[in-house]
Amino acid sequence: MKHLLASIHDVGPRFEHEVDLLHDRLTGHLGGPRFAMLVVPDHWGEAPLRAGTPFATKLRGWADSGIEMFVHGWFHRDTATHSGVAAFKAKHMTASEGEFLGLDHATALDRMRRGKALVEDITGHAPAGFIAPAWLYSSGAKAALGEAGFALAEDHARVWSPARDNAVLTRGPVITWASRSRPRQLSSLAAAALLRRALAPARIVRVAVHPGDTTVPRLLDSIDTTFVAFRRRVPMRYAQLLA
Ligand SMILES: [Zn+2]
Repeated sequence: MKHLLASIHDVGPRFEHEVDLLHDRLTGHLGGPRFAMLVVPDHWGEAPLRAGTPFATKLRGWADSGIEMFVHGWFHRDTATHSGVAAFKAKHMTASEGEFLGLDHATALDRMRRGKALVEDITGHAPAGFIAPAWLYSSGAKAALGEAGFALAEDHARVWSPARDNAVLTRGPVITWASRSRPRQLSSLAAAALLRRALAPARIVRVAVHPGDTTVPRLLDSIDTTFVAFRRRVPMRYAQLLA
């Protein structure tokens, strides 16, 4: 049987409206809340997740409905200064959204532990794992994942288990879209069209959507086309990879 792992990135009060739209869209395609959410504890230091707020209640309801919750960085934005390859990646690949690319081990571990505790407190469920903003990790951040107690992590190319000696659980590129500029939109549309075909034989396919996608109709069309193309696949939970 072939499976689909779907996720909504950048979930938090900053993008509440956009996340609502994506929640409804994916629920429609997948026949229920059969996807994951990546929760940002304090997006850009401007949108803190707080217990007792309406958004916290909504998040808990979504977790209770079966949506897997991942910790997705802390600020999301990259506040560190980089040198060499990391500087190039940070500047050209992420528009400075790769928060964990430049973090040392201790800082990464601290943010991971606080994020884990916060998401568990707000949702009432232990987070399924940790996924770094823009899927970018420093070596210190990679090492901290297991110490922070995360069972699952992923990047562009794989899902692995920090709790199990970093055993790789599935491989293959994520189908995702970029809304930031027209050239990026066009290249992400081309990549999605290519990957819909190329990944047809794959046992597991990952699809990730972002709040900004909801502002660009042609990206939403491509997202719909992608879910329709994979409609015979069974949506799965990331935690099933550990079974
Ligand atoms: Zn993100």
